[in-house]
Amino acid sequence: MALTDEQIERYSRHIILKEVGAKGQKKLLNAKVLIIGAGGLGAPAAMYLGAAGVGTIGIADADEVDLSNLQRQIIHQTADVGKAKVQSAKETINAMNPDVEVRTYREFITSENIMDIIADYDFIIDGTDNFPAKFLINDACVMAKKPFSHAGIIRFKGQLMTYVPGEGPCYRCVFKNPPPKDAVPTCKQAGVIGAMGGVIGSLQAMEAIKYILGVGDLLTGQLLTYDAIKQEFHKIKLPWNGKGCAVCGEHPTITELIDYEQAECTDK
Ligand SMILES: [Zn+2]
Repeated sequence: MALTDEQIERYSRHIILKEVGAKGQKKLLNAKVLIIGAGGLGAPAAMYLGAAGVGTIGIADADEVDLSNLQRQIIHQTADVGKAKVQSAKETINAMNPDVEVRTYREFITSENIMDIIADYDFIIDGTDNFPAKFLINDACVMAKKPFSHAGIIRFKGQLMTYVPGEGPCYRCVFKNPPPKDAVPTCKQAGVIGAMGGVIGSLQAMEAIKYILGVGDLLTGQLLTYDAIKQEFHKIKLPWNGKGCAVCGEHPTITELIDYEQAECTDK
């Protein structure tokens, strides 16, 4: 597949980079990335991946756009309030870049559907806002041997890490089990500064792009934290419980997906 003249112009700032080039741009155009959650993290991630020419972007989200989303979920417009988030996201990406095929899944991920949804994708971005979903995505990606980017944001803080099968710890190696229901406040209860989604969601898009291109170092085995009040980033080296982890270890005790109880308030 040769790049068209229009594509050579559109992606010229990529193609000029020695780490990308025409070859790397073709890798992006052939890549498939799934974004679970079209919210504060998923919105910027989807827009940068769409602009970059990632050829297939899947978006999974069951919600509709709410007025309170617009302070940070920049893929949705005021006129989209009430519309399915996946549809609103698809329209924004397609208006920006017709090269991208956007596949929509208007459903909450569960133990029943997640394996089918992730099966076709090269990289998964966890843009969800609750622990049951985060553990479900981790366990499904470990079982299906899919790389994914985890992230979380609240108030003025954010964090992310990347799991690549066989190359470092999974989310459960680090965090073991979900906290008790309601032990940790949600963004709806605690608030979140809008640009935090832009910072951390863009970093997730960067991890996906670098994974596809095969360049640089990923956040495998490392948790990157961001404190916007102090304007500080820190990288924390994570222990890899390679043998003892309940899901990615040598003798896993979790061999079926678990639907943990959903916290009542989610980041709508
Ligand atoms: Zn693990």
